[in-house]
Amino acid sequence: MVNAAGKFGPYTGWDTRVLAGRGPTGAELVRSRIALRVRLGSVAPGDRLPDAGVLAEELGISEITVRRALEAMCQDGLLDRRRGRAGGTFVATDWDAVVAVMYDAEEAAALDAFHLLLECGLVAHAAGELTGELPGELPGGPLDGPLDGLRALVQEMDLTDDPAQLLELETRFHLDLAQALGGAGIREFAADLLGRQCLLGPAPAPAHVRARNRCHADLLDELARGAMDPAVRAVKAHRHAGPR
Ligand SMILES: [Zn+2]
Repeated sequence: MVNAAGKFGPYTGWDTRVLAGRGPTGAELVRSRIALRVRLGSVAPGDRLPDAGVLAEELGISEITVRRALEAMCQDGLLDRRRGRAGGTFVATDWDAVVAVMYDAEEAAALDAFHLLLECGLVAHAAGELTGELPGELPGGPLDGPLDGLRALVQEMDLTDDPAQLLELETRFHLDLAQALGGAGIREFAADLLGRQCLLGPAPAPAHVRARNRCHADLLDELARGAMDPAVRAVKAHRHAGPR
C-alpha cells in the first residue's frame, strides 16, 4: 500500500506520476480525498472525521503526514478541531462558504481541461470494447455490463430534486466512468482530479448539472454503439453544457 517514499496512495496498475508529471503529495491527497468525501456525502459539514490513523491506513500514507495535512486544513478553515471527550477533527460547518472563498479560476480551468483530456482518452481507449450486445440486440440489453451502473446514475440524476444529491451523483458518474473505461487505478486518478476541483470554487448550479446529465446519457448511448467520435463529442459537449 505505501511505497518507499510513503507518499503515494494505494494505486494499482497505473503510476499516476507518469500521467500527471507527478502524483499528489500526501498532504494534497488528504485534502482532495476529504473534499471528495464531502461532495459524495459520506461526511457532511459538522461531522467528525475518522481518526488520523484510520485515514492514514485508508490512504496508504503515514499518520504524521495525515496529521500535518489535517492541521493545515484547520488553519484554512476547512476543518475544525475540538478538544475534550467529544473532541476530534470535524468538517467545518461553513465548509461551502470557506470553499467559495478559495476560488481559483485559473487552476480550476487547468484541472477541467486535464479532466476533459482524460475522459476523451478513456473513451478512445475503450471504444468498441464496451458494447457487449449480441448482434441485433438493442443497446441497454442484458449484456450491457459496465454501462448499466452508469445508466442507473443518469436515471437517478433525472429523478432527484435535491441539489446536493445531484452534485453527488454528478461526481459519482465521472468516478464510475473512469472505472468502467480505465479500471481501478484510473478511478483513483480521477478521484484526485475531482477532489481537487471540489476545493477550487463553488459547485456548478443544479441547472448546469442537469444539462450535463443529457451529455452523460448521449455518451453512454454512443459507447454502447461503439461510436467513438460521437462519444468524444458528448464528452466535449458536457464541458460547455448549460441551461438553455
Ligand atoms: Zn458530468
